[in-house]
Amino acid sequence: MWRALSLAICMAAAVSPAPAKAQQRPDDAQKPTLPEAPQPNGSAAAAEQTKTDGAPKPTVSPARAVHRFWDRENDWLFAGVGAGRALDYASTLNIRRRGINEVFLTNAIVDNHPLFAGIEAAATGASIGVSYVFHRTGHHRLERWTSLIHFGVATGGAIRNYALKTPH
Ligand SMILES: [Zn+2]
Repeated sequence: MWRALSLAICMAAAVSPAPAKAQQRPDDAQKPTLPEAPQPNGSAAAAEQTKTDGAPKPTVSPARAVHRFWDRENDWLFAGVGAGRALDYASTLNIRRRGINEVFLTNAIVDNHPLFAGIEAAATGASIGVSYVFHRTGHHRLERWTSLIHFGVATGGAIRNYALKTPH
C-alpha cells in the first residue's frame, strides 16, 4: 500500500516537470495554433448560421413529438394489451377446466367468470391509465413500453398456461 503510494508520488514528481516544459512550448506552439484559431470562430459563425437556418425545425419537432394520447400507435398498443388480457382470461379458464390451480389469483376469483373478466378489463384500464400518466408527464417512451411490456407479460403468461400439462 505504502509502496504503491510512494510510487505514485514518485510518478507524480516525475510527471510534474513535463507540464512545466509544455508550458514553455506554447510560445512556439502558439504560432501554428494561431492560424487555426480563426477557424473555430468561422465554424462557430457557420454553426450560428445553421442554427438560424435550422431554428424553425427544432420549434416544429417538439410540437410533432407531443402526440395525441389516442393516436394510432396507442390504439394498437392498447388493443394489444386488451388482446393479451383476453388471452390470459381464456388460458386461465382453460387451465381451470383442466384442474390446474391459478397461481396469481385465487381459484374462487377465477372461477367467478364475470368477476375475473372484470379484473382483466380493470388491468387493461389500469395499464392505459399508467400510459396516460407517462404521456402527461412527457415520458412518451415509457408510455409505449408500459403497453408493450404488459402485452408481452400477458401473452407470455397465456402461452405458459396453454403449455402447462394436464395432471392425470
Ligand atoms: Zn405520449
